[in-house]
Amino acid sequence: MRPLLFLDVDGPLNPFHASLAALQEGYTAHSLRPRGWAPPLPALRVLLNPDHGEQLLRLPYELVWATTWEHEANSMIGPRVGLPELPVVELPARGSAPDGVFFKTPALVEYAAGRPFVWVDDELTDRDHEYACNHHRAALLLHRISPAHGLVERDLDLLARWEPARTAAMVPGKAHEG
Ligand SMILES: [Mg+2]
Repeated sequence: MRPLLFLDVDGPLNPFHASLAALQEGYTAHSLRPRGWAPPLPALRVLLNPDHGEQLLRLPYELVWATTWEHEANSMIGPRVGLPELPVVELPARGSAPDGVFFKTPALVEYAAGRPFVWVDDELTDRDHEYACNHHRAALLLHRISPAHGLVERDLDLLARWEPARTAAMVPGKAHEG
């Protein structure tokens, strides 16, 4: 079974801190209105690169949405980056995680249920790594993506080279901390 790849949208696929001029070629700006984002709120400006889907599908993982777009990632984001319908992790409310841990982290560890995973997200910290290592008994890689650059070739190379079997050997020592 392939490891899971938890995929965030805002940050990795939508480099929302980038100026259009600074971005690599290939991005297009979209005006999107997810559910609950009604006027008078302005539509969201979302930068997306249609090459990302193919690049991600080439990697040896099973892709899963791990984003606050939740099921709307399948209708609004996937078709614009070239991804098919993917499974979705349904996330709890922000602030629901223990002290300093990102609200997505416990939910993703639970979803993985002992299966090796990588996770790309722009909001990861050492606390998330610590939490995941303490609660997940298989290999994992939390890889932070800059929201100014989005997912770039360097990140894709790293994901292509990751070897869960080698990482797993390092995990048991951390499994009983905290
Ligand atoms: Mg994000």
